[in-house]
Amino acid sequence: MDNFFEIKIKAINENVAIVRVAVATFVSNLDITIDDLMDIKTAVSEAVTNSIEHGYYNIESDENIVTVRAYIESNEDDNIKIEIEDLGVGIEDIELATTPAYTSKPELEHAGMGFTIMETFMDEVFIDSKKDEGTIITLTKKIRKKKSN
Ligand code: ATP
Ligand code: MG
Repeated sequence: MDNFFEIKIKAINENVAIVRVAVATFVSNLDITIDDLMDIKTAVSEAVTNSIEHGYYNIESDENIVTVRAYIESNEDDNIKIEIEDLGVGIEDIELATTPAYTSKPELEHAGMGFTIMETFMDEVFIDSKKDEGTIITLTKKIRKKKSN
């Protein structure tokens, strides 16, 4: 069955868990393995954490919002698409940002591995970002339906 949800969270670290639970609940009706479920939760957490810690870095406002939209499109396989959007500072150099181990904030205990993790755990990671306007990360994964006998 095709399905959709959207949630908005205030951009604080405490709210990453809300998104994890929402996404896990959303995909749990699918014929999905625990491994795939964990992959999706991890990738989404990385993207939401980036929006909070980089997108809204040094922007103090109660209006800092992260929007998460999730879609299931069921055909022969189930396709999951999750968009994570912030209206923060944006990414100036996407190639640099996605280089493994690159972080703009090494002093804050970042390892620069978020995008690498997203790319490893999902089939596709698409980055749409404009300086001073914000960032939308689109994560997709195909869940192959187990063959029933
Ligand atoms: P880690 O994820 O290991 O804690 P990191 O967040 O620095 O470290 P990535 O998640 O790979 O590493 O992100 C790389 C860089 O891309 C960040 O250091 C930051 O400069 C930039 N970036 C990522 N997401 C955003 C965003 N939503 N808005 C602005 N800049 C971002
Ligand atoms: Mg990160």
